[in-house]
Amino acid sequence: MKESLLPPVIAIDGPSASGKGSVAERVAKHFGFHYLDSGAIYRLLAFAAYQQQVAWSDEHALAQIAANLDIRFEHGEAYLSGEQVSSEIRSEQMGKGASEVAVHPEVRTALLQAQRNFRKAPGLVGDGRDIGSVIFPDAGLKVFLTAGVETRAKRRYDQLISRGEAADYALILADLQQRDLRDSQRAAAPLKQLPDAILLDTTDKNIEQAVNIIIEAFKKAGQNA
Ligand code: C5P
Repeated sequence: MKESLLPPVIAIDGPSASGKGSVAERVAKHFGFHYLDSGAIYRLLAFAAYQQQVAWSDEHALAQIAANLDIRFEHGEAYLSGEQVSSEIRSEQMGKGASEVAVHPEVRTALLQAQRNFRKAPGLVGDGRDIGSVIFPDAGLKVFLTAGVETRAKRRYDQLISRGEAADYALILADLQQRDLRDSQRAAAPLKQLPDAILLDTTDKNIEQAVNIIIEAFKKAGQNA
């Protein structure tokens, strides 16, 4: 781990539906660390723009909304201007909206400090696309968490079905492929595996196995500091 007076950070980046959220939350719980779900911030922005009828392509107007975004996370729920909107932002539509608003550099800059503010003692686990590259480049441990696109589509399909929602596997797969492309090909903070990140492919692993690998890697990083 790099020497730092700031609280330690574990950065978990990877594509949509790779299981980052579940894994990151459990790792945070294990160490008693705070948890930053950066995707939820982009989803909240997409939802705020939708409510204000601002197009997801309008970079300047979006950046202004982003700079004044009133968001809060409490007990796993997301609040926008005091209103609980967790299920609204988890929709496929807001996932798409998030990946559209996230391409704009002005928007990403406007959301930078809000994300850095999550770094508090005793530590933070953050998940997203650019946590290790842009938000916390000095993170003590960086993980690139991924899984084959078909595995991820199947997981998302099962998740929707278990919630009693309609799901079409072919559509989910096509949407994930499109989102992967948009997230990895954009100019601003594209998703990529960093040279100093460990690769964790969960195609043949369950959540518990992935969590344990990260816990051990973080302990080891601490010993090598
Ligand atoms: O992780 P999640 O699926 O909730 O993220 C929604 C979208 O937000 C992603 O597809 C991505 O485009 C964007 N995002 C991002 N940078 C992050 C987190 C999410 O660009 N750090």
